[in-house]
Amino acid sequence: MNGESIAERIGRVRARLAAACARAGRDPSTVQIVAVSKNHPPESVEAAAAAGLTVFGENRVQEAAAKIPQCSSRLEWHLVGHLQSNKARPAVLLFHAIHSVDSPDLLRRLDRIAGEEGRRLRLLLEVNVSGESSKFGLKPEALTDTLRIAESLPRVEIVGLMTMPPISEDPERARMFFRALRELRDRTRAETGFELPELSMGMSHDFEVAVEEGATMVRIGTDIFGPRPRPAPEREESL
Ligand SMILES: *Cc1c(COP(=O)(O)O)cnc(C)c1O
Repeated sequence: MNGESIAERIGRVRARLAAACARAGRDPSTVQIVAVSKNHPPESVEAAAAAGLTVFGENRVQEAAAKIPQCSSRLEWHLVGHLQSNKARPAVLLFHAIHSVDSPDLLRRLDRIAGEEGRRLRLLLEVNVSGESSKFGLKPEALTDTLRIAESLPRVEIVGLMTMPPISEDPERARMFFRALRELRDRTRAETGFELPELSMGMSHDFEVAVEEGATMVRIGTDIFGPRPRPAPEREESL
């Protein structure tokens, strides 16, 4: 895999995505690839953009603030990692969408700042479906109340849900958590009428399983850009 170009890797990711969609009876155009470029330079982003990708993800605001201005302005950027409230303003200015909103306080803050900055934001609520204490995310029981709070906030729109399953080598072990997120979405939709069309789930090693379980956004880093040059904190903002 090391010798492959970014364009070749993207070709393989697209083929795997198409195969997973075929198994699930889904149209590949219903799954958005979010290319997670953390720890990779702007040149790698440009190479991926040249191969046709348009949506990119970063997990740290600081790194994104340095990188995004160096990339083509027609790209769309999503924050996929945990957001500390003191980084909310730069996050609002840098990103078109945030996948990792995990509290009503953060939601209110993002809405207020988006108003001050004349922006609108698409947000996904991160849900901790595994119940692991090390994970960020709302408890599933808190989802409906959080959606009702969001409904009253004019600058933010909740477009869906995101989850991170427990880390495992075996992608099949993630399946029950992906399915749990979809079922939570379906139940919540039936009970409240919130549509929540987007499900952000699946990374390099398990995105096929996520697609089989209904993912509409897959967050792929390593299998597009290659191994990360230096170890990245997977989720945390650096303190
Ligand atoms: C790094 C990261 C990814 C991509 O991980 P890969 O295993 O490299 O595909 C996806 N989502 C989040 C939140 C990440 O931090």
